Amino acid sequence: MVYIISKREINWNGFIYEKAYEGVIPNLERRFRESESDSKKDELSQYLTEKTCSTCHGKRLNIQALCIKINNCDIMDVCDMSIDDSYQWFVNLPQVLDKKESI
Ligand SMILES: [Zn+2]
Repeated sequence: MVYIISKREINWNGFIYEKAYEGVIPNLERRFRESESDSKKDELSQYLTEKTCSTCHGKRLNIQALCIKINNCDIMDVCDMSIDDSYQWFVNLPQVLDKKESI
């Protein structure tokens, strides 16, 4: 993990130490999760919204990676399968791939 920003904090005995900055989004999510105040949650909720990405449709891979399909499935389709379904998908691969694709 790479930390770009750190900040100095003073602990209970006066010792100054560097603390890695957690990042804007993790900071907002943590404060929302840890807050017990409804007004604070309301304030923070204006920055939090759940929305499916229109480019990858929630698969979180770039379009080039998602364009690669094997037996009509991209990598995230296979990752989303149950263990049994993915096992069957892999077992059936030799029947759908030609000799060159099987290498
Ligand atoms: Zn996306």
